[in-house]
Parts: sequence; structure tokens; C-alpha cells
Amino acid sequence: MSALPFADTPYLVARRVSRVVCVGGRQMVVLQPTSLSVKRGEFVAVTGPSGSGKSTLLNLLSGLDRPTSGRVLVNGKDLWAANDSSLAQLRNAEFGFMFQIPHVLRSRSVRDNLSLPIRYARLAAVDAAMKRVDELLDYVGLTSFADRSPATLSGGELQRVAFARALVLDPAIIFADEPTAALDDVNSHLLLSLLADQAASGKVVLMATHDPFARAFAQREVRMHKVTDALA
Ligand code: ADP
Ligand code: MG
Repeated sequence: MSALPFADTPYLVARRVSRVVCVGGRQMVVLQPTSLSVKRGEFVAVTGPSGSGKSTLLNLLSGLDRPTSGRVLVNGKDLWAANDSSLAQLRNAEFGFMFQIPHVLRSRSVRDNLSLPIRYARLAAVDAAMKRVDELLDYVGLTSFADRSPATLSGGELQRVAFARALVLDPAIIFADEPTAALDDVNSHLLLSLLADQAASGKVVLMATHDPFARAFAQREVRMHKVTDALA
């Protein structure tokens, strides 16, 4: 086997992360202790039936939610040891997000939607970043849609807007939670090929999916199982 072109040290590590929530005064395990290790250039699918904890795991790994126990290391740094502002900074700089339903601002053009992360990040090199917006529009095949309102786009086109926006700040990792669940086969294929392309270029792609078609694009899977005994 040829050597990986990317650093061999894991970029994202989870050590026995779990999540217990309180529902109606009772403790409920929504994620059993789960460990994984992902290197740059890997496309990993988090699979399993609905309710098996895929979204919970992604939320813990991406800093949207705090684990009840266990640790998350990003590039060797403990995600949850950071204070709120450095966590926000890390997430802005290193993480890109996609969800099942693309969250876009319908009152802004497609290009403005892609530019928003640049404005929030208060980058020094704004011109270079804006150039990247146009390159990304081209990359996802939406150059001719740049000035349109997202309200006039199809679901597949909107998901590519969300994908391009996730890439604007050049993240090291893309978290995608069921990104193809609302797409037809043609649009799923297009998006999954783009995600695979990002992994091939050295990013980490971590995608939750219950769809075997989507799973087939990933190099490997982390399989989740439904928590049967939910009482902690
Ligand atoms: P998946 O993404 O695999 O469908 P989730 O991670 O969304 O699964 O959820 C796993 C289980 O935990 C589900 O049964 C869900 O209802 C439950 N769950 C997740 N978060 C909470 C919460 N904050 N409060 C109560 N139940 C939750
Ligand atoms: Mg989910």
C-alpha cells in the first residue's frame, strides 16, 4: 500500500465520549461511550438506524454539545478544555457544517450567503476570501446562480450552496449530518462526489447517514447501535 500523502497522526480523536440527558426527571443514555480516530484525508461515515446517536455523536465531536464523559481531541487539543471564545474560534477556523436541511438566508443572494462566514470571521485577507467564494461557486456548478435568491433554487442546489459555504474558510474537517437525506439520486451522487473530493484533497469528512448509497462513498464506517436500555 502506498503511503498516505497526509500526516499520519489523527486529526480528530474521541475517547469514550458519552451523552446522558435528563428527560422528565430521569437520566437517559443517548450515546454509549464511543471512541474513534480519524486522520486527514479520510472520509468516514457514521451509520446506524434512526435514533442510534449519529447526530448526538457529531454534535459532541463538533463542539455543538458537551459530552457527559470522555474527551474530544482536535489536532491534539482538548476541545472541551478550551474556554468559550477559543472553542468558537477553533470551530470557525477548522470546522465546516452541513445538515439535512440546508440553512441559508433566503433574503440574501447565493453569493452573499457564501460571503457571510468571511464577514463573521473578520478576516484580514478579505479579497482573497472573496475570490475563493467565486471559485467555490464554480466548483459546485452554481456560478450562474450567484446573484439569485436561494428561494429560487432546488433542494440539491441549496445543499450545494450549504456545502460551498462550509468550505469558504477552508476548514480542516467537514461535519455533514444526513446531507443527502432530502436529495434525489442525481443530486446525492453529485454532493457525495464533492465530499469525497474534499477528503481526497486532505480534509476530514465525517458524515452521519443511514443511507447505504451515501455510505458507499466513504472509505470506512463507524457503526452506531440503538441504545436499548436507556436508563443510566
Ligand atoms: P440519530 O441521529 O442516529 O437518528 P440522535 O443522535 O438524534 O440519533 O438521537 C439518539 C436518541 O437520543 C434518540 O432516541 C433521541 O430522541 C434521543 N435524544 C437525543 N438528544 C436528546 C435530548 N437532548 N433529549 C432527549 N432525548 C434526546
Ligand atoms: Mg440524526
